[in-house]
Amino acid sequence: MTSEKTLKQFNLRITKIRIAVLDALSASPAALSYSVLQDALSAFDRTTLYRTLLTLTDHGLIHKAYEENGESYYARCFGCTGQDHHHEHLHLKCSSCGGVECLEISEELKLNLAQLPFEEINISAKGPCSSCAIQGG
Ligand SMILES: [Zn+2]
Ligand SMILES: [Zn+2]
Ligand SMILES: [Zn+2]
Repeated sequence: MTSEKTLKQFNLRITKIRIAVLDALSASPAALSYSVLQDALSAFDRTTLYRTLLTLTDHGLIHKAYEENGESYYARCFGCTGQDHHHEHLHLKCSSCGGVECLEISEELKLNLAQLPFEEINISAKGPCSSCAIQGG
């Protein structure tokens, strides 16, 4: 689905920056940090970029995948709505390339977690990401 169609589906106004943010996050296999997004989208006003990230997060199109040293990493959501972000997945911060990956977790672990009345689940881990692990570094 194109970013434009995604915005329509979520009843959001289509703006250049929203499309640009969604395109950037959809094209990247890893979550992107705020500063990387800012560099990639330097044509846009910084305040507008910040507000766009908040809006897209609020409506369930993107999520904050990781936070470290005041730097937030964002990734695309699939199957989330504004009321209900469900990220029963793990965020892996790569110790080698510094990227952040969204990884699915096993059904068993999901079932275990579901027995507790969590309001929010945020699982993060550190170690080589899938591409760095393959390269052996
Ligand atoms: Zn989400
Ligand atoms: Zn890596
Ligand atoms: Zn994620």
